[in-house]
Amino acid sequence: MNFSSLGFFRSLRRDNKQFAVIGLGRFGRSVCSSLHRLGYEVLGTDIDEKRVAQAVTEQLVAHAVQLDSTELPALKEAGILEFDTVIVAIGNYLQESIITTLNLKEAGVPHVVAKASSEVHGKLLQRVGADHVVYPEYEAGSALARSLTQPSILDRFDLDPNHSIVEVSVPEEFHGKTITELQLRNRYGLNLLAIGQDERFEINPDPTKRLYKNWVMVVIGSNRDIDRLPI
Ligand code: ATP
Repeated sequence: MNFSSLGFFRSLRRDNKQFAVIGLGRFGRSVCSSLHRLGYEVLGTDIDEKRVAQAVTEQLVAHAVQLDSTELPALKEAGILEFDTVIVAIGNYLQESIITTLNLKEAGVPHVVAKASSEVHGKLLQRVGADHVVYPEYEAGSALARSLTQPSILDRFDLDPNHSIVEVSVPEEFHGKTITELQLRNRYGLNLLAIGQDERFEINPDPTKRLYKNWVMVVIGSNRDIDRLPI
């Protein structure tokens, strides 16, 4: 997440319990099943009747309707325009994805999230009013490349293009040393936020605490400084 998407996520209503997902491909189905598992009521729609039936059989959604989302009356009839948040999960059909997003925004749906399959697609979605655009293939590909090239970085939160919070395995070199001895701020320009072992984290750990190589640490700093860690 970055600053530009922060405004979008802040504007979502906390009491909203319902979502509509248009397009039941792999991405749309995954959004449906996760929302459903988290206890939200999901209306799934697709132009393909078989996909609609499958979503119901597999209990990915509470309700499912077959419709062509490029037709405004169909969206209206299915009650989709009343939803607070609608996810347009149509990646491969550019025209359909754009028209659907345009229809939803022109009809006043407050929050429209749309999946883009390319940069140009994403730009077009923003032009027609999408409130948040996601690039799942691009994001998954970048995450995979990062974990292949920096396997010690277990998790990462990008604050901006130059600064991050990362969860890393405690480097071999740090094994058995106290936090004071490591001098992370002086030597690396990094601040230690937490240390973790056995899936439990200690926030603002005591500086006298010793670190061990099977533990993890969470640090904040510039990417350049993070890259200097002996991991
Ligand atoms: P993946 O399956 O990899 O997630 P995707 O999300 O890019 O791919 P698409 O192939 O773009 O998926 O299609 C998503 C779904 O959108 C398909 O099930 C397709 O039938 C549906 N769809 C396409 N056009 C429309 C439309 N006009 N109205 C409703 N659903 C549509």
